[in-house]
Amino acid sequence: MKPSILTSLLLAAGLACSATAFAGTTLVQDVRVFDGMSAHEHRSVLVRDGVIADADYRGQVPAGARVVEGRGRTLLPGLIDAHVHTWRYFALPLVFGVTTQVDMFTGVPVMQRIGKAMAEGRNQGEADVFSAGTLVTAPGGHGTEYPVPIPTLEKGGDAQAFVDARIAEGSHFIKIVMEDGFGDHHFNSLDIATVKAVIDAAHKRGKLAVVHISTLDNARAALEAGADGLAHLFVGAKIAPQEADSLARLAQAKGAFVVPTFSVLESIAGVTPRDLLDDPQVAGLLDIEERGTLQTGYGPVPRPAILAAPKMVTAAMRRAGVPVLAGTDAGNAGTQYGASLHHEMAALVDAGLSPREALVAATSAPAKAFRLGKRGRIAAGYKADLLLVEGNPLQDIAATRRIVEVWKDGESTAPVRDAQRRHVAQENSARSGQPLALPADGRISLLKDGKLASPFGTGWIPSTDKFAGGVSTVKLAAQAAQEGGASIAIDAQVKPGFAYPWAGAAFMPGAQPLLGADLSAARVIRFRVRGDGHKYMLTLASSGMAIPRSVPFDADAEWREVAIPFSAFAGVDPATVTMIGFNAGPQPGDYRFEIADVRLADR
Ligand SMILES: [Zn+2]
Repeated sequence: MKPSILTSLLLAAGLACSATAFAGTTLVQDVRVFDGMSAHEHRSVLVRDGVIADADYRGQVPAGARVVEGRGRTLLPGLIDAHVHTWRYFALPLVFGVTTQVDMFTGVPVMQRIGKAMAEGRNQGEADVFSAGTLVTAPGGHGTEYPVPIPTLEKGGDAQAFVDARIAEGSHFIKIVMEDGFGDHHFNSLDIATVKAVIDAAHKRGKLAVVHISTLDNARAALEAGADGLAHLFVGAKIAPQEADSLARLAQAKGAFVVPTFSVLESIAGVTPRDLLDDPQVAGLLDIEERGTLQTGYGPVPRPAILAAPKMVTAAMRRAGVPVLAGTDAGNAGTQYGASLHHEMAALVDAGLSPREALVAATSAPAKAFRLGKRGRIAAGYKADLLLVEGNPLQDIAATRRIVEVWKDGESTAPVRDAQRRHVAQENSARSGQPLALPADGRISLLKDGKLASPFGTGWIPSTDKFAGGVSTVKLAAQAAQEGGASIAIDAQVKPGFAYPWAGAAFMPGAQPLLGADLSAARVIRFRVRGDGHKYMLTLASSGMAIPRSVPFDADAEWREVAIPFSAFAGVDPATVTMIGFNAGPQPGDYRFEIADVRLADR
């Protein structure tokens, strides 16, 4: 629900972003084929030049073809996650056979970068993404809680102009928010007249309009207003069967689809996806941070009872013949790109879908609902995005996790999966489990041969939102500080472009960039600062945190000392600190400040 924003500063080092080319001919022999709709035993599928040449090939092995043994295995279309927020781990979905993601709100530059790469046919190392770009919400509405301005739509505002602007940016469809709040968070919501105006405006331009809802009333209102689909169902301990049936009949009558998003509803309900975390075939391919995000959901206490309503509504939708799509809301706490879709399919089965229907929900149904072209099926002329698994997911949906190989556009993505496996293995072996012995003076900003250095860890790096698609820039300059060690001058240009823009300097205390260091011997971070009078942020992250924590400090013309205890960073585990950042942002602008004598102290 909450598209949570930025976290670590670097992409997983091992996640190479381009697969080696294998755009030749591949024959998967004697395999069970789930073609997106139904299963066929003992088929052979021929792939040539990135597309499926023959879904029931009976000829001889073509000269030069790579032959893949299919006996005992099932070949499926590459999976499609119908609800994500794409802002990092762009290759990770491929590791888990998810070759396409439908994005419900991300930064426009991220959407445009991926859209361009897809158009130019050089997106083989990442999942394809079809994005709504910026969502449509009211001033003060859900989606505006991040400190980056997004355009909003006033009550009675010009819906057509707003929608036209999104389409001009590259939005594939329009995502609308009806949300009064969750937890103790209140939001302004678009009123139903404005929602209807946006839906009509989208339809006028031939675009789909999907509505985020979190209550039964809003679900009904959105459908009445002509929504093409519901993003999310709503949690609740109970719902009258006739209400569930009536909502399903309404969706059916309107020709709408639903994306229940059990993965994030469970996160809200405090239910941890143990099936994924306990499965070495899944958790063994996630690094500490990626596992941490999956493990730490939104709900502080387990309330599984509130999943009763979405389960009952999903069952009612199925009975009414409403297309139910598998979408996870990955990008949020309690979910993970790629991995969570396997859990989502199992959750749909738990809610009453057959395994076949759950597979349809993750392949042909989202391709059709979101008009994604020739994907989501195994049929001649379709895109050769494929997933080969051991066993039969039509009997046991969990078999989708027993991945043999994944292809995108006819090319094997095995290099991406292998790189991830190596990265995770390396990380596991590098984990020490010992608190780090701090230097006697605690100083971590040093000058060595005129360059910025540190007594341990990966060291200091310029840190900006660029890795996530932002455009902020920074320059660091180090010189000897009066009191010893280094003084770091930070020249930052913070620019709009990413949802949470920042630029600054970061110290990476781990032996490798994403690895946590045990800094529990320290209690306080001390440093001296001067600057241009702006407020700055000291930002900390520990392994697995979805959102780093920041504490502001002032930087005036005169040097002064700042001391901030680790305890001020709620949720940061001092035993697994991955980053200590000194950042400008998120307000766009030019910034200049200097820090010196950065120390980890015990008081
Ligand atoms: Zn979402």
